[in-house]
Amino acid sequence: MPAAHAVGQAGRNANGVDLSRLLILGGTAEAVALARALSDWHDLDVITSLAGRTRSPAPPSGSLRIGGFGGPDGLATFLRNESIDAVIDATHPFAEQISENSLAAATATDIHRLQLVRPPWEKRQGDRWLEVSDAADAAKTLPGLASRVFLTSGHQNLEAFADLDDIWFLIRTIEPFGGRLPRHFSCLTARGPFDEAGEIALLKEHRIDALVTKASGGSSTYAKIAAARRLGLPVVMIRRPEPPPGALVSDIDAALVWIRQVVA
Ligand code: NAP
Repeated sequence: MPAAHAVGQAGRNANGVDLSRLLILGGTAEAVALARALSDWHDLDVITSLAGRTRSPAPPSGSLRIGGFGGPDGLATFLRNESIDAVIDATHPFAEQISENSLAAATATDIHRLQLVRPPWEKRQGDRWLEVSDAADAAKTLPGLASRVFLTSGHQNLEAFADLDDIWFLIRTIEPFGGRLPRHFSCLTARGPFDEAGEIALLKEHRIDALVTKASGGSSTYAKIAAARRLGLPVVMIRRPEPPPGALVSDIDAALVWIRQVVA
């Protein structure tokens, strides 16, 4: 397992007092914000874990480790070896596998687990959303709906659009991508937050007539939704998967209350 900073054995502070240990499964702004909010909790040792998809992630407060655990068993082993008291799954709402793994591993090791899931965007007057179940479904809705599409559903899904030869795509991702791609496209790598004026300018510049996005929620990428509304464009919105069962909160304050109750 590659580790950005080695994570130690059960934490102790400078006075030799045992600390509670918390693992945050990250990859989101919420995970960063939670680690920051916990940075002055002196009775708590916080490790953030990232999958390693981003080349130069900003270091969070506390410790950082990077890379997969090797499935639910690997995560359970990590939780045991690192004497973790609680795990906070603050991963993206579409990161289904790691959330399932965290449930299985927390159950196997009998430790506390919380999901921190940002609220979804709410539809407003003027929004023209077509809600679909997945990327394949999104691809099916495009012929006849649009000829120039702003595709922002992430690099993992691009293959679903690869056979749409009559549509031109502007593909925006955080990192460069490969794999099977549509015949006609232009790409753009950029990381939010984006602003509405910039998104409107981008949509106009490329004469976009529909947007495809995951229902990610959060403020960082909401500007494209507002821009599409302003321009009267349809938005093909890929619905969120259901989170696995277990305790769930939707904001940092509620997560802090939960953490205080179970570990501090
Ligand atoms: P995924 O399908 O749920 O996870 C695939 C595998 O990646 C997991 O089984 C695990 O490998 C590893 N992994 C995922 N998150 C990890 C973490 N925080 N720490 C250590 N290992 C992790 O996830 P994904 O959709 O590929 O997303 C990967 C990461 O990007 C997530 O952490 C997520 O928060 C972030 N992200 C995802 C999206 C999205 O749209 N899916 C968008 C923005 C950010 P092992 O089984 O080997 O442990």
